[in-house]
Amino acid sequence: MRPMTSAVHAGRADLTALGVHAPPLDRSSTYPLPSLDEGRDALAAFAGGAPTASTPVYSRLFNPTTARWEQAVAQLELADEAVAFASGMAAITATLIASGAVGHHVVAVRPVYGGTDHLLASGLLGIDVSWALPHEVADAIREDTRLVLVETPANPTLALIDIEAVVAAAGDVPVAVDSTFATPILQQPLRHGATYAIHSATKYLGGHSDVLAGVVSTDAAHGGALRQVRILTGAVLDPQAAWLLHRSMSTLALRVEAMQRGATAIVAALLDHDMVTNVRWPGLAACDPQGLVGRQMSGPGAMLAFDVRGGFDAAAAVMASVELITAAVSLGGMDTLIEHPAGLTHLLVDEDARESYGLTPSTLRISVGCEDPADLWADLATALEAARPLVAVAAARRDTIDAR
Ligand SMILES: *Cc1c(COP(=O)(O)O)cnc(C)c1O
Repeated sequence: MRPMTSAVHAGRADLTALGVHAPPLDRSSTYPLPSLDEGRDALAAFAGGAPTASTPVYSRLFNPTTARWEQAVAQLELADEAVAFASGMAAITATLIASGAVGHHVVAVRPVYGGTDHLLASGLLGIDVSWALPHEVADAIREDTRLVLVETPANPTLALIDIEAVVAAAGDVPVAVDSTFATPILQQPLRHGATYAIHSATKYLGGHSDVLAGVVSTDAAHGGALRQVRILTGAVLDPQAAWLLHRSMSTLALRVEAMQRGATAIVAALLDHDMVTNVRWPGLAACDPQGLVGRQMSGPGAMLAFDVRGGFDAAAAVMASVELITAAVSLGGMDTLIEHPAGLTHLLVDEDARESYGLTPSTLRISVGCEDPADLWADLATALEAARPLVAVAAARRDTIDAR
């Protein structure tokens, strides 16, 4: 099945036998046991990482509503299995633990989501991390390296990473790709040799800014450990959230297509605006020197970033002046959001690291939604005018500093 068909039909295989057309929402926290023997065998199976058993036993071990959404994600990611978590960060943490990285070594390529960066840099999990550029991955691998972690397109710079090249450089070490910005509609990391494809499902997969969730897709050999970590750390997804996510799945391809169309129009207008510099979007040749859109991604997506002339204050003024667009972190919902990565999502990232990957105090990130792009641009253009006086203020301040 092609992605558009999978998005609509995946995870529904058992519905006809159940005599229903919409997936039922099972909110049971526990399940009646057919017999002690069967309960004991099922419990042992789940503890060993099995994807299913003859009875769920207890909802932290298995939930049929969540399992249907997992099957849908796995089908879209061309994976054997998908394992759902309570949030994207829970999914990333579980991947680190399941890969055996705790007490060992991880190679990670910046930029990554601010929370991921902070989790690794803080040492909270007892993981030794080497930050590498994509071409430095091979040299960064050590005897005790358990995982290579990359994000493409990267948050917030939209930098693209060649997954196949990283997989080759990693050798025997599994590669995890945070594919949140791409969605499984535009990119399937396992097709390029990655072992794990991770999503903050809070974003495009949920798509309506009303669910927190995460999901990891992988092969049969690696799914069991992820489920063991989930069962024992308890970072399970609430079945109500899984139900909403499954419902959202059916419109995923449509939403991504409409948002991408909107982003194309906004990017063209930004490139033409004299208050704007350094527009970053995977659809621009300058942002995709390796030609990965078309080869690794089937489209450029709807996330973009740009710098505003006038520095931090001008960027803040744009954020304060938008009216149709909402100033907020997060992304991938139906409506357009704007945020300031250096001050918000990537606040906890080392400042030199931020600078090294081109994140400045005047960078803004936009998640383009499903509105008419003409209305979005009218709002953004007005906000950019509101920031114009701050260009002169910033220049005057620079002159004063120079004079000192
Ligand atoms: C939001 C985000 C995360 C974290 O996901 P949560 O659902 O907020 O825990 C991880 N990676 C990327 C790329 C994100 O955008």
